[in-house]
Amino acid sequence: MHWQSATSTLLQSVISGSRVGLVTDVDGTISPIVDHPDAAQVTPRSRALLADLQSHLALVAVISGRAAADVRERVGIPDLVYVGNHGLEWWAGGRIEIAPEAAAFRPALEAALDAVRAEQVPGMLVEDKGATISVHYRQTADPAAVHARLGPVFEDLAGQHGLKLFQGRMVFEIRPPVDVNKGSAFHHLVARHNLDAALYLGDDTTDVDALRMARHLRETGACYAVGLGVESANMPPAVRDNADLLASGVQDVESFLSWLLSACSASST
Ligand SMILES: [Mg+2]
Repeated sequence: MHWQSATSTLLQSVISGSRVGLVTDVDGTISPIVDHPDAAQVTPRSRALLADLQSHLALVAVISGRAAADVRERVGIPDLVYVGNHGLEWWAGGRIEIAPEAAAFRPALEAALDAVRAEQVPGMLVEDKGATISVHYRQTADPAAVHARLGPVFEDLAGQHGLKLFQGRMVFEIRPPVDVNKGSAFHHLVARHNLDAALYLGDDTTDVDALRMARHLRETGACYAVGLGVESANMPPAVRDNADLLASGVQDVESFLSWLLSACSASST
């Protein structure tokens, strides 16, 4: 169901909460997907709306697979809560905290990094994110072939170093085998900020944990959380399957944030 069909039902229940939080992904959600991850930019309208929403909501948090410092710089609003690396890094009190269970895997990660770099093909971008490794292959000559060939290679390689391989949109991610993901991070944010209602926005495979968590929190009565999936040309089916509501692309997310701001402004006057 498109979010506009739920403004007087699901979404009305969210904004009726006394402590409402908004947690959003970055790439493909408030920032259009681009060929090179370094070139991604949060849209000016999303940035302005998030900044305005901050004074109406109990929490505005941004969560991403990117490093927390990268997310903070890209979004550019000083006082939001920033969660990087799928929940492995938190920007808190002016510095980055790495989840302690992840820090112990740094030596294994460094060994894996050397092995990954040995598989380098033209256009492939290997990124050391401290707690994890990302391998972007969107800019290779034949991404589908790279995916098919290197998927099993990296799966083995991760296993040899006691790590795990995850796959996102045109990206391989090698991560420590710790139970931290966007779903657990969303749960943590809800608890830490004592939210009784919350929204989660995301577009990719790694957001599915958070979309599922939103539904779980709502169904168990812990928090009235609603998950919005953001549609795109190559939207993973699991996003659609687990989202409560859908937005049709980054521009429609802007419309959603704008609606949310008006609704919150109206309910607080
Ligand atoms: Mg995304």
